[in-house]
Amino acid sequence: MIVANATDPVRTPSAVADGWRDIMRHAIRDPIALCQHLQLPRRFEQAAIRASHQFPLFVPRPYLERIRLADPHDPLLRQVLPLDDELADVPGFTQDPVGDLLARQQSGILQKYQGRVLMIATGACGINCRYCFRRHFPYAEVAKLSRHAVTWVEEIRRDPSIEEVILSGGDPLTLADSQLARLMDMLSTIPHVRRVRIHSRMPIVIPSRVTTELCRWLTGHRFSSVMVVHSNHPNELDQHVEAALKRLANVGVLLLNQSVLLRGVNDQVDTLAELSHRLLDCRVVPYYLHQLDRVAGAAHFEVPIERGVQLVHQLRARMAGYGVPRFAREVAGQASKEVLA
Ligand SMILES: *Cc1c(COP(=O)(O)O)cnc(C)c1O
Ligand code: SF4
Repeated sequence: MIVANATDPVRTPSAVADGWRDIMRHAIRDPIALCQHLQLPRRFEQAAIRASHQFPLFVPRPYLERIRLADPHDPLLRQVLPLDDELADVPGFTQDPVGDLLARQQSGILQKYQGRVLMIATGACGINCRYCFRRHFPYAEVAKLSRHAVTWVEEIRRDPSIEEVILSGGDPLTLADSQLARLMDMLSTIPHVRRVRIHSRMPIVIPSRVTTELCRWLTGHRFSSVMVVHSNHPNELDQHVEAALKRLANVGVLLLNQSVLLRGVNDQVDTLAELSHRLLDCRVVPYYLHQLDRVAGAAHFEVPIERGVQLVHQLRARMAGYGVPRFAREVAGQASKEVLA
């Protein structure tokens, strides 16, 4: 393993920026520590403890620093703070809203749409988002990329209809660069793979994850590289995130964003417009705005579909077409995600 050395001029940018693993190790996991750090009223502590038993709290420092103090309504805080609302049993909100998720997790590789396969590279993430469909997964049972990469690559090699390989999770960028680089090397030997796409929230939550090393393995092959990041609110896109995204853009990665429509976070047209403007500042094109998956514990985040449609129409009336994401949801058994607006 290469150890980053701050005195080596070639490695300096990455060495200064690294420490992303330390950031993961030192992420806040204790609900009381989170509430005290953010100066929240005491009543939030007990609720956060109760709700975090179902799905643990996990907030890395660089994200924490973007949350306003003493404001329970902060749109970034809402995405990470466990609330009593999560314990409510709401009809229609289930453990496995997309139905095939468990099967998907266990096999580790999934083809749902023509030409594209999706690899579940890992179950780990750089943050725990309270509305996530991952909240009930038996992650101990996830097939590990480290053990199955060769099998998965051979599966892709045998199917010439596959043009694009998507690395998803969890968050694939919680894996080591060396492991991801090896996977890219293997994929580059398959002539019919034209694109590799990474689905990751890491550049948003821990921007120092965008190391020189990462830029190298992501762009060092004949296929074109696409990264779909996940940001829901303009406050997430601070100067460090902007710098990280521009590093990716500068090495030639096509950058797209997906958001989830979330009550109390981004369900106002002004917020969505500012999010799009900030994304474009960072050279990221808004791609999808997802209707929430109906996972148990996330009902308080749901925005009615009609409201989502209205918001996207309002957005389209006031900015460049390429700044407007497709409002979509996933419906089991369909040939593509269903575009609602
Ligand atoms: C969302 C998704 C994709 C990618 O769909 P695009 O519309 O191309 O972004 C591919 N495979 C699976 C299983 C998915 O859920
Ligand atoms: S980063 Fe993505 S996969 Fe991970 S918890 Fe958040 S929404 Fe879920």
